[in-house]
Amino acid sequence: MADVSRETSDAGEHFETASEVLSRIFGNSSSGVGGELAQSHLAQEKLDEQTFPKPKQTRLIAFANQKGGVGKTTTAVNLAAAWAEAGMNVLFIDLDPQGNASSAFGIPHPVGTPSIYDVIEKRIPMQDALQKSDHFDTLDVVPSTLSLSGTELEIADLDDRWFLLRDTLDAYLKSSSKHYDYVAIDCPPSIGLLVLNALGAVHEVIIPVQAQYYALEGLSQLVSSIEAAQNGVNPHLIISGMLVTMYDRRTVLSKNVYEQLAEHYPDVILKTYIPSSVKLAEAPSFGETAITYDPKGPGTVAYREAALEIAKRSDKVMKMLGN
Ligand code: ATP
Ligand code: MG
Repeated sequence: MADVSRETSDAGEHFETASEVLSRIFGNSSSGVGGELAQSHLAQEKLDEQTFPKPKQTRLIAFANQKGGVGKTTTAVNLAAAWAEAGMNVLFIDLDPQGNASSAFGIPHPVGTPSIYDVIEKRIPMQDALQKSDHFDTLDVVPSTLSLSGTELEIADLDDRWFLLRDTLDAYLKSSSKHYDYVAIDCPPSIGLLVLNALGAVHEVIIPVQAQYYALEGLSQLVSSIEAAQNGVNPHLIISGMLVTMYDRRTVLSKNVYEQLAEHYPDVILKTYIPSSVKLAEAPSFGETAITYDPKGPGTVAYREAALEIAKRSDKVMKMLGN
């Protein structure tokens, strides 16, 4: 097989980096598999030169969109994993009865597992439901089980039904000897009592938006619901990011959707977008996040870039929150 590296210096052998080789072979075109690979190698090399700033205070973030299947869970787990990989202490709360995030972290969650269901209904404190993810030392996960699907009915008559998650999370964060840099909450696809509990417990919402034709439909409803939460359960709540997912670089549609969102929500849209990637979809079936399952893949690199972009916004977010 031909050696693709080149000697470029008289003084000694200089081997091209992987991204230089890929760019030389495939050119700088971003469309097509080769171009995408070259771009993502380049992006990873840039990431390797950067350090993730630690937020001065714990950032509490809910990943929400009432629309189903837009990439909430994929986004929440891979950002959390990217932060943990960068050495941040992360607490992940799976607030979806489907338990997809728990699966992605490789945590078995049959009914009966101590979970957010028991925590939110005050049967156990949060620390009793914590589990470690095998792949990340600095990541703690509170899993979910199917039983959580009964919670909205079970708490409906309680006076403090809007604040159950906030109160139990506050109590845990105050009592824990560990300082968390990020708390990430994966929400179910609704705007029910569970999601309102998440909105009451966090400072920030990040909205994953799938790059597809109906992307903007429903978004204004979501933004109104978040505004309603600001006026009700949580006056200190901001939308700190909107992340476009399943972006297909070969289509004009993806580009158009991104541009429309950037026009409507210029302050919150993240520059990074997440490409469509089979590996991102495959990873959970192996009980892994893409960060470990496909460490060099374009989807993974994009999630690391998004994690860094969000981390770099920490000071701005703290200012917006008045801290
Ligand atoms: P739900 O509303 O059911 O909770 P969700 O908003 O959490 O869904 P995900 O479960 O993250 O969405 O993603 C929906 C489906 O799309 C999953 O099968 C997931 O593996 C897949 N998926 C997510 N992101 C990508 C991507 N960038 N490329 C390809 N497939 C993806
Ligand atoms: Mg989900």
